[in-house]
Amino acid sequence: MRVILLGAPGAGKGTQALRLKEKYQIPQLSSGDMLRAAVEARTPAGISAKAIMDKGGLVPDETVVGIVAERIEAPDAEAGFILDGFPRTVRQAQALDKLLAAKNMALDSVIELEVDDAALLGRIAKRASETLASGGTVRADDNPEAFEVRLSAYHAQTAPVSEYYRQRGLLKTVDGMASVDDVASAIEQLIDR
Ligand code: AMP
Repeated sequence: MRVILLGAPGAGKGTQALRLKEKYQIPQLSSGDMLRAAVEARTPAGISAKAIMDKGGLVPDETVVGIVAERIEAPDAEAGFILDGFPRTVRQAQALDKLLAAKNMALDSVIELEVDDAALLGRIAKRASETLASGGTVRADDNPEAFEVRLSAYHAQTAPVSEYYRQRGLLKTVDGMASVDDVASAIEQLIDR
């Protein structure tokens, strides 16, 4: 099963991707996690991405597509995967189509979590305070300034990705304002249908 989760930053993609990973036993492929790992490992891609990520901007398509393509090639992704945070631009969506076509693979569903912009800043602040409370390190881009940039990037560059998949008959939407459990069961119903 190959699923894409779409939605604004803070919409709950990561939380729901983890649920799907447990239920269907397929890996969660988070482009944000991959990029943070590249930053941590100080790879050339990580070094050039860091400043952009800290400010909340989008990392260039070629960099992200390269990292995700390599991850999709890994043996554990053969039986399926949940893409979280990718694609974020129409060019990335087109690159993914090419990549999958070359492997004779197809997407099963693209699920968009719909959340009010007003609720998102509160969710990000909650994520930061929960991380602090559990002794973790708050992400450099989980602050109001970077969040504004991330939200604008989402509306300008990622919203057209929904339209891209809608035109291909793959887009399904879920009310992301509901509880985590309710969102999870709505997603499962769409997938199992
Ligand atoms: P996320 O963990 O998905 O919120 O991503 C954190 C940051 O990583 C984003 O604000 C971007 O700077 C970068 N990023 C993650 N995924 C992508 C992507 N598909 N395209 C471009 N930049 C990305």
